[in-house]
Amino acid sequence: MPNTPDERLHPQLHINSYGTYLRRRFGFRVSKVNVDAGFTCPNRDGSKGTGGCIYCNNVSFSPKETQAVVPLEEQMTAGMAYHRVRLGSEKFIIYFQKYTNTYGSVELLADLYRRALDHPDVIGISVGTRPDSLSDEALDLLADIARTKYVCLELGLQSMDDVILNRINRGHTLEDFMLAVNRASGRNFDICAHLIYGFPGESSADFLKTADLMAGLPIDSLKLHQLHAVEGTELAEMYRRGEFVPLTLEQYITTVADFLELLPPRITIQRLYGSAPLEICVAPQWGLKNNQMWYAIVTELTRRGSWQGCRRPEFR
Ligand code: SF4
Repeated sequence: MPNTPDERLHPQLHINSYGTYLRRRFGFRVSKVNVDAGFTCPNRDGSKGTGGCIYCNNVSFSPKETQAVVPLEEQMTAGMAYHRVRLGSEKFIIYFQKYTNTYGSVELLADLYRRALDHPDVIGISVGTRPDSLSDEALDLLADIARTKYVCLELGLQSMDDVILNRINRGHTLEDFMLAVNRASGRNFDICAHLIYGFPGESSADFLKTADLMAGLPIDSLKLHQLHAVEGTELAEMYRRGEFVPLTLEQYITTVADFLELLPPRITIQRLYGSAPLEICVAPQWGLKNNQMWYAIVTELTRRGSWQGCRRPEFR
């Protein structure tokens, strides 16, 4: 195995981490601050589907402070103060996270995004959305903002298997995602893909094919987490009926390390773990913090003597 990692990889992590990328790009520490701008989701309100994805309970991936009833500016102030104290961050990217953050008129989107960018310490925005909720006007707006500010468009795919997408009531197909990526690319903003590993009926080998798919797309970063069931979701009921058997921690770490070895070093890694508040986390209950999961995966790469991309054809 080659022992000269790509220069974009963090020398200790063996991964092209998003944090390192931001520091390289801007020259200082940048933190993402989550906000809830009061959007809903077309897969919940009936326009694409009802009930939402079987694992979706937005409480599980939204910090308590980010409630839509709290004005955007107040959420930003609280989030930035937290990151200033905890991490010493100087500048911030406002992350429109909850539900579908392009699901509204372009006037509404422009107002929200520009309000976030009005703060002098905000250098950009990150916008999470579904691939089937992306109008040409929204893409033009993001491209316009990207002329002067950092912009990242975060597109949920979750699985590249249409059978799984259908089974989890995702309400879109792989083709929808591919079309969205193609429409968004070349507009001078970053594109991030969201993936989940551990769906019922999915093998490790199935999931690893996703690395090749990602390698062939014009995406810049990735977020990955384990499928986990939280209270108030169909997936939690499936777990109780024995229809969802969560991955073991060892299975997850092994497959994520395999996945990273197959992923080109140019793609930055934003996330490798999903956590939910203890009181609503049903399964799996690994009891790890985010940094502990990073450490476990990095330890596995180190044990193997491997690194992100080392199994790409260009490095063999
Ligand atoms: S697309 Fe996102 S917000 Fe909408 S139901 Fe699925 S997970 Fe929930």
